[in-house]
Amino acid sequence: MPESPPLHTETWLVSAGRDHHAGAPLNTPIVPASNFILGKTRAYARDHGTPTWEALEEIVGGLEGGRSLAFSSGMAAVSSVFDLIPYGAEISIPTDCYQGVTDLAESGVAKGIWKVNKIPVEDTQAWISASRTSDLVWLESPSNPLLIVADLEAICQADRKKDSILAVDSTFSTPINLRPLEIGAEIAVQSATKFIGGHSDLLAGVATTRKDDLFGRLRQSRGRSGATPGALEAFLAVRGARTMALRLDKAQKNAAFLAQCLQSHPQVVLVRYPGLPSHPTHAVAARQLGGYGTIISFDIRGSAEDADAVCAEIRLIQHATSLGAVESTMERRAAVPGQEHLPPGMIRLSVGIEHPDDLWDDLSRALRRGISS
Ligand code: PLP
Repeated sequence: MPESPPLHTETWLVSAGRDHHAGAPLNTPIVPASNFILGKTRAYARDHGTPTWEALEEIVGGLEGGRSLAFSSGMAAVSSVFDLIPYGAEISIPTDCYQGVTDLAESGVAKGIWKVNKIPVEDTQAWISASRTSDLVWLESPSNPLLIVADLEAICQADRKKDSILAVDSTFSTPINLRPLEIGAEIAVQSATKFIGGHSDLLAGVATTRKDDLFGRLRQSRGRSGATPGALEAFLAVRGARTMALRLDKAQKNAAFLAQCLQSHPQVVLVRYPGLPSHPTHAVAARQLGGYGTIISFDIRGSAEDADAVCAEIRLIQHATSLGAVESTMERRAAVPGQEHLPPGMIRLSVGIEHPDDLWDDLSRALRRGISS
């Protein structure tokens, strides 16, 4: 593992997680093993990992500044963090939050396992107050899908309940734009399905911590639930990670361009992108994030049907959910079960690495044709 001197992010992404011994394959092999010859290191994959998972864990752990564990999906990593929380606990989650996390939190309430507070991402004072009583403070930054940036510095510095956990899902930021552990969070979570993999061809998740006891408990939880990644998926995630810095850089430039174009389009009434000075948490984003990300949520001037028609008109951008891949995708977010509270004409666009002019041609054409005026 290359250690010293400290490497730049893009160099780390290319060089970490490799075996540097003479004769070793340059690329981390796909090791489809459940069982290992007994000795001092590992015995069984579900408990002790495999070389392919470890390559992914080394890459992400180095970026986040902690020790990582790879999971079968982002939600598997999230579930492992929730699994650390004792019966009767209090959990705080954002009002604008990935629906899978909201569902998980609410299912625990329905079973009487814990109590959940829902707090607006931008209400820093409410997070600070909730930190005094919460066993788990769960943040997402920027949030999905309204792209509100949490003031993590202020929240992490607050007095918190003893032995509580502050966890941040920074999937939208990637570990390139945001490193929650450096700011003071105990756990950082990534859906590696998104930017780390980057090609819409795998499901994986990663949880990272600096605390040995939390690392051990997360590993036990992963072993108990069996939420381990597949060998091929871990390999693909490693392969995707190699180009993550390049992809993010290009897609972010595209996103900044499209956000500007959308903002001056007559059929668009609101553009949510943390890089726009008009965004309500732009100042926090500018201070805290290494980049403004690749996701834009915008409201069209028109009904839900008009927004559906815009999504049906796109040709190059894919009408699909999910995000963080090489190809641009978009969907009307209130059409997603559980997200009906969102503005009916709001479209979430995940910008890829295509040429920006082609993307804008496609989007502006779809806006023109889709919206009845
Ligand atoms: N966190 C965020 C912010 C997400 O957007 C998603 C999925 O869209 C997840 C977690 C869950 O990840 P996965 O689909 O890999 O389980």
